[in-house]
Amino acid sequence: MTTTLVLNASYEPLGAVAERRAIVLVLTEKAVVLEEGQWVLHSERLTISVPSVVRLRYYVRVPHQAGSVPLNRKAVFERDGHVCVYCGSRPDTVDHVVPRSRGGLHVWTNVVAACRRCNHRKADRLLSELGWALATKPTMPSDRLLRLRGASAVHDSWARYLDPEGWAVGAAS
Ligand SMILES: [Zn+2]
Repeated sequence: MTTTLVLNASYEPLGAVAERRAIVLVLTEKAVVLEEGQWVLHSERLTISVPSVVRLRYYVRVPHQAGSVPLNRKAVFERDGHVCVYCGSRPDTVDHVVPRSRGGLHVWTNVVAACRRCNHRKADRLLSELGWALATKPTMPSDRLLRLRGASAVHDSWARYLDPEGWAVGAAS
């Protein structure tokens, strides 16, 4: 299934949708086509190229507040590259860097992917008590832009719209 990049009226990338949904947005005049894809759909009455990038005709307000990326095991593993942050092996658990029993919170900045073995060895101790260290400080993953950048590897036409410089150029024209 091909997907279409959807930009806000301000040219800010909003997300990717299935081509069918993108075509509906265009046909109902909610969005305009910025880049045409390689595919063409034929029906009895019309021929339409599947858009690769569309821009909404209206501005959608997008909340940017922290905490908008749901914290779950899958997301933590993805952020940490599917390796245990302590030993580099395959992770099985989410570890609280500052253990919950020591007042650590269940928040992005206090969770890491860990293998069962490291999690067990660490138990309810602090990294400083073990002489362990983290290579990078855990943060909340930057949400949809990061995912869209990943997807842009297979959609050349998206790249310039995912670059903040590109938004400025687009918005000015
Ligand atoms: Zn480990």
